[in-house]
Amino acid sequence: MAPAITLDDIKAARERIAAHIVPLRITPSPSLSSRFGKDILLAHEYLQTTGAFKLRGAMNSILQLEPGTTGVTAVSTGNHGRALAYAAKKAGVPCIICMSKLVPQNKLDGIRALGAETRIIGNSQDEAEVEARRLVAEEGYTMVPPFDHAHVIAGQGTLGLEMLEQVPDLDTVLVQLSGGGLIAGIALALKLQKPDVRVIGISMARGAAMIESLAAGHPIEVEEMPTLADSLGGGIGLDNRYTFELVRDYVDATVTLSEEEIAAGIRQAYFEEQVIVEGGGAVGLGALLAGKVEPGEKTIVLLSGRNIDMEKHRQIINQEV
Ligand SMILES: *Cc1c(COP(=O)(O)O)cnc(C)c1O
Repeated sequence: MAPAITLDDIKAARERIAAHIVPLRITPSPSLSSRFGKDILLAHEYLQTTGAFKLRGAMNSILQLEPGTTGVTAVSTGNHGRALAYAAKKAGVPCIICMSKLVPQNKLDGIRALGAETRIIGNSQDEAEVEARRLVAEEGYTMVPPFDHAHVIAGQGTLGLEMLEQVPDLDTVLVQLSGGGLIAGIALALKLQKPDVRVIGISMARGAAMIESLAAGHPIEVEEMPTLADSLGGGIGLDNRYTFELVRDYVDATVTLSEEEIAAGIRQAYFEEQVIVEGGGAVGLGALLAGKVEPGEKTIVLLSGRNIDMEKHRQIINQEV
């Protein structure tokens, strides 16, 4: 069956968002290349405005809102919420990020600094979600989901176009896997042009909702646990529409990492590449170092984000956690 998102959708997304995003920077990693005896390159998407790739999907969604929409809303205070707040401000669209009272002040301030209105409701994510749904039902807002939406997936897929353009002979790509919007978009962009590219998805072992859903054969709920890769936490939605099938059909293999393997990825980025990445951003490096992925002759490792608490980063670098 043809995929729900086409190569043309991804190419159109690229044109649509081009003026608003930082192009992907890809550089060779001499240290990893000599260690593994293969060409290994790093894709530095943590350089994206707001510190993670999510701006691509958020921007592609905002630029295609139905006429008459009041504004956009989401429940995330993580990288998706940041991206949506920024994209909405840039496009001149009102944005309300809903969150519970439990969200720490620095996250709240971060979202407000990016120009969004914040609404603090209740004591749980679920209660905040009720308010976001009310904004949609009663006030004409549009909910922009973090991964399971065709416009979001096409936006994240623009990364795959840029990878293949800059490295036409790439054969393997290591990509973070959480809700699956990122890897679905990249896998489509690559495989619809070059079907033999290997796309490998990497999650933390603690609460890998997509990987456990794939094993079950359908979306399932998985207990959420604290992890250094916090941007990879959360479920895929029992009513998943796109990403479950796309990941099942287009991703070649998946691996999971322990917390120590994730920390090793963060340290590798810092000490060998002089780069600060968050836990979720570092899992590709962690997977290589752990020997859980065999690199190809030309392998791209995606570094997807850098929004880590700097005190936490310091502790990881100093081996205090
Ligand atoms: C959201 C996120 C991911 C995972 O993306 P999905 O589309 O949910 O799979 C990976 N890395 C970072 C930094 C993120 O913010």
